[in-house]
Amino acid sequence: MSALVAVENLTKHFAARTGLFGGGKGVIRAVDGVSFEIAEGETLGLVGESGCGKSTLGRAILRLHEPTSGRVVIDGTDVTSLGSGPLRAFRKRAQIIFQDPYASLNPRMTVGQILEEPLTIHHLGDDRGARRKRVAELLDRVGLRPEVAARYPHEFSGGQRQRVGIARALAVEPRFIVADEPLSALDVSIQAQIVNLLVDLQKEHALTYLFISHDLKIVEHLCDRVAVMYLGRVVESAPAAALYARPLHPYSVALLSAVPEIDPAKKRTRIILEGDVPSPAAPPPGCPFHPRCPLYAQKGRPELCRTALPPLEDKAPNHRAACHFAGELASPS
Ligand code: SF4
Repeated sequence: MSALVAVENLTKHFAARTGLFGGGKGVIRAVDGVSFEIAEGETLGLVGESGCGKSTLGRAILRLHEPTSGRVVIDGTDVTSLGSGPLRAFRKRAQIIFQDPYASLNPRMTVGQILEEPLTIHHLGDDRGARRKRVAELLDRVGLRPEVAARYPHEFSGGQRQRVGIARALAVEPRFIVADEPLSALDVSIQAQIVNLLVDLQKEHALTYLFISHDLKIVEHLCDRVAVMYLGRVVESAPAAALYARPLHPYSVALLSAVPEIDPAKKRTRIILEGDVPSPAAPPPGCPFHPRCPLYAQKGRPELCRTALPPLEDKAPNHRAACHFAGELASPS
């Protein structure tokens, strides 16, 4: 499979006020040199604690946040070099599903108007009648009755609103969708239905997904490959089966140790990470994970971890990790 999405050394920095009275100027390195590819038809899961930069990365890839540097190529187009007109036209090929469907839907527009808007912007459908027919088809495809086109977002449940959000993303027939925590505002019983819908739509439309989530169980079920983010960087990436069977980065080992397991054979002893994620305005020197790394503590605090940033490199076939001692912290069972 060829890459539909290529992200090369992408950064997104925000200006920040620093100092006691906010008089200084600093930089928040929300995304700090991320590279990966997503093959056509593949789902890449992006995981990490809140504040690790995964949502910012998803938005920077689509230029909903303007990247600071780096390059993104989607479906053969260098998205990072597009002017505003071509970028607007390009949005037909790459869409986003947001975490909070309520906040992302205009409360003053009916669902029919919400779904018709992208069709009008991108000149899809010959006339109003054709666009309305398409709206009815979209609603039907995401499991909603076409009559609901006349209703407003507040008249829907959370799960139904997320179905509308999916229909809106689908309206322009994109090839790539960033799904930014699309399940986290929903009840567990509804989450499975939305996951199944996303899987079915992927098969029908050969969609490529970047699936951003903090729910490692759902990511294991849904994703072909997984990238683990910490402090604005990818610290490990691998096929999902390999990463869940044998995580190589101590951060991934700790994250996976917290996943609830019903199968006693797969149960792991929980590793509690000390402290909070450091501020991306002042990342620790060397390996950014070293102040919280259980392996660093176990190994007698090697100077290398404190001084040298470990590159993300192959440690096994298709399995990359950014750790000087990758694989040495076993998953405790
Ligand atoms: Fe831990 Fe050192 Fe590996 Fe960083 S490089 S994850 S501090 S062992």
